Amino acid sequence: MPGAVAYFTSRRGGVSPPPWESLNLGLHVQDDPERVRINRERVTAGLGLPPNPWVTAEQVHGARVGVVDGAESDGGRVLPATDALITAARGVTLALFFADCVPLFFAGPGAVGLAHAGWRGTLSGIAVSTLEALRQRFGIEPSEVWVGIGPAIGPCCYEVSEELWNEFNRRLGTGVSPGPRYLDLAAANRELLLRAGVAPDRIVEARLCTRCRADLFFSHRRAGFPTGRMAALIYRP
Ligand SMILES: [Zn+2]
Repeated sequence: MPGAVAYFTSRRGGVSPPPWESLNLGLHVQDDPERVRINRERVTAGLGLPPNPWVTAEQVHGARVGVVDGAESDGGRVLPATDALITAARGVTLALFFADCVPLFFAGPGAVGLAHAGWRGTLSGIAVSTLEALRQRFGIEPSEVWVGIGPAIGPCCYEVSEELWNEFNRRLGTGVSPGPRYLDLAAANRELLLRAGVAPDRIVEARLCTRCRADLFFSHRRAGFPTGRMAALIYRP
């Protein structure tokens, strides 16, 4: 992305056994922390990420945005009760973890960000909260921001209750619901981003379903608990 380097990992290439096979990067899913450490090191080395420890968050499906100051004060920190991270510091890798929820990558002039949007985070507006934080903290307008929407559970696989389906339809229109009781969470976030002023040609979507692609991704919906977690990673070079 312009002004940022961003990645989304697959499940391949790590050392964890089933049910985390194999590149599990989450520390909260009962995998051995030593294996997770090795897996994270492989990603850092393999992708040539900055050497500082990743800054991560205790994701709680909320809408709180954490501001990360720099590697010296924040390297290795886990921000409590936080579902989005932004920073203007160079060389600080932000990381959030996923197994079906929607990863959102933000890159504006002078700052980057990440957000974690499951259905709760989507409805509580984590995408818009992240844009607001970029404006308030760093003076970046939504129209200046590039957004990447990474792999997530697709409209093919995401069946929800009638109540939740109705709520998404009422709030975001029928474009987010491809069929009865099926939701397109990526499209819902795209709609929220557009309403907040992001340019349509600055939104880039992976359109890969984490539940369909068992060869590539962990999926909470498919595998239940425990399973592994992929990482969304972004930094300013
Ligand atoms: Zn699918």
